[in-house]
Amino acid sequence: MEETLLMIPGPTKVAPRVLKAMSDAVMNHRSAQFADILTEVNEMMSEVFQTENPSYTITGSGTAAMEAAVGNILNKGDKILNIVGGKFGERFAQIAEANGGNSVKLDVEWGKAVNPEDVKNILEEDDEIKAVTLVHNETSTGVASPIEEVGKIVKDYNALYVVDTVSSLGGDDVAVDDYNIDICVTGSQKCLAAPPGMAAITVSDDAWDVINKVDSNSYYLDVRKYKKYAEHTPSETPYTPSVSLMYAMREALNMVMEEGLEARIERHKLAASATRNAVKAMGLELFADEDVSSTTVTAVKMPEGVTDKDMRGTMRDKYGIVLAGGQDHLKGNVFRIGHMGNVNYRDLVVTMAALEMTLKGLGMDICLGNGVAAVEEAYLIG
Ligand SMILES: *Cc1c(COP(=O)(O)O)cnc(C)c1O
Repeated sequence: MEETLLMIPGPTKVAPRVLKAMSDAVMNHRSAQFADILTEVNEMMSEVFQTENPSYTITGSGTAAMEAAVGNILNKGDKILNIVGGKFGERFAQIAEANGGNSVKLDVEWGKAVNPEDVKNILEEDDEIKAVTLVHNETSTGVASPIEEVGKIVKDYNALYVVDTVSSLGGDDVAVDDYNIDICVTGSQKCLAAPPGMAAITVSDDAWDVINKVDSNSYYLDVRKYKKYAEHTPSETPYTPSVSLMYAMREALNMVMEEGLEARIERHKLAASATRNAVKAMGLELFADEDVSSTTVTAVKMPEGVTDKDMRGTMRDKYGIVLAGGQDHLKGNVFRIGHMGNVNYRDLVVTMAALEMTLKGLGMDICLGNGVAAVEEAYLIG
């Protein structure tokens, strides 16, 4: 099978050395040898989260960490403010309700970023709100939320600040301690470029004070157990983790460290501006407000007269490049180009070339080469 190029917002292309790490022999997960790997991964996660607080890995997808973040801080009926500007913001609200919480929603138009003043006004009026959730990079719309500004506001109230950085950590600026984030979560298969199946969470002292007073709504995701077991000698996870994925996480995080977090984020920023310039040069329209556009995924309006099925189908079947469609009410109306993880100029050049050929082939009036040239221009200056 010819390898397809994944230009989707996760899972992303996994480097051969990370895949190779997974083929090492499975070991006892309650051994000193495994404890070293676990500790290394958790410590590197804290480094990437830019926090002094410990981090914990959970075997499960990113949503497991989202559920751990919310389920552990809510007693029945507790109020939580969920900022909802897309599918993943909505997911936090659904998780809160599923865990017995009382979700107060701040709805933001899809494609726009939340206005921090709106968060302030709600917190000012309602002192029962126990936590605020925000998705940093709303993967469904390609919007990056102002997590630093919202953090400055939440700090002045008696509420925890919970942030989903599943599709931004390792690809965009996330500084957990500087931004006053209490609980931050991520997943393995996006900017960190490990295979799917691992999630990570970091928890502040303030959050532990709350968690320790809550009857956890979950058994598997009770973070107190993850903390307790991590503190064992040798360090452990409460239940059997995916040992092979832990090898992969270590290797993927080694790659992040070798590249350097800052350089990695700059690489993502360059890929994002190259992508935006390329689609605009083709005459396509961006879905999200450009001044709040994501560093890791770009949502593009589906051009008139072209269907999602034909467009993405041709990209995949004829040119071997996988793009993502729209989610929920954006299905068919937008497509999304992921540029996260190990993305480089080569990926973008071939993606734009294939996109131009696809759209021209489907009858659009496209001047071949404009998108590719925009990528070249971006990388020449970048
Ligand atoms: C991918 C993603 C998730 C988690 O999805 P899983 O399929 O559970 O890994 C959560 N939030 C955001 C913003 C995402 O992009």
